[in-house]
Amino acid sequence: MGLFSKDIATLQDLFLHQLQDVYYAENQITKALPKMIEKATAPELREGFETHLRETEGQIRRLEKAFDSLGEKPKAVTCPAIDGIIKEANETAGEIADKAVLDAALIAAAQAVEHYEIARYGTLVAWGQQLGHGAAVALFEETLAEEKATDEKLTQLSTRANAKAEAVGADA
Ligand code: FE
Ligand code: FE
Ligand code: FE
Repeated sequence: MGLFSKDIATLQDLFLHQLQDVYYAENQITKALPKMIEKATAPELREGFETHLRETEGQIRRLEKAFDSLGEKPKAVTCPAIDGIIKEANETAGEIADKAVLDAALIAAAQAVEHYEIARYGTLVAWGQQLGHGAAVALFEETLAEEKATDEKLTQLSTRANAKAEAVGADA
């Protein structure tokens, strides 16, 4: 891995780049979640976001352990994808007046984040296995399970939230 080069020459370089990208993404998510907690209305949704904020802080520690297991210092490289997902979520939320509709939008935005994470951690597991980084893989698998569980929890919450959102304006 060239310390003074941005070039990705090998699968190992690509793996490390992906790890740095996910490290950036998780840090951005810890900044975005408090704003989503503020915007959420349904208590169970706020609680869900609060729980996942704490989990995300643990996921960052896990990534730092993964860097350590690879003999690398934790480093972040910009992830334009997570920046875009968060930007889109903020723009959409800014257009919504009704709290119930906003909750439905927040769940959809959170699921977009979780699906991005699930894709990325799945790839880190596959590349880590291929490259023989067993300790890092075990850490990624723990986080991947949390992201999948969060996505499922959001799907459950969406049933009630979507019904409430549909009711907005229905009596007009
Ligand atoms: Fe995460
Ligand atoms: Fe990315
Ligand atoms: Fe997550």
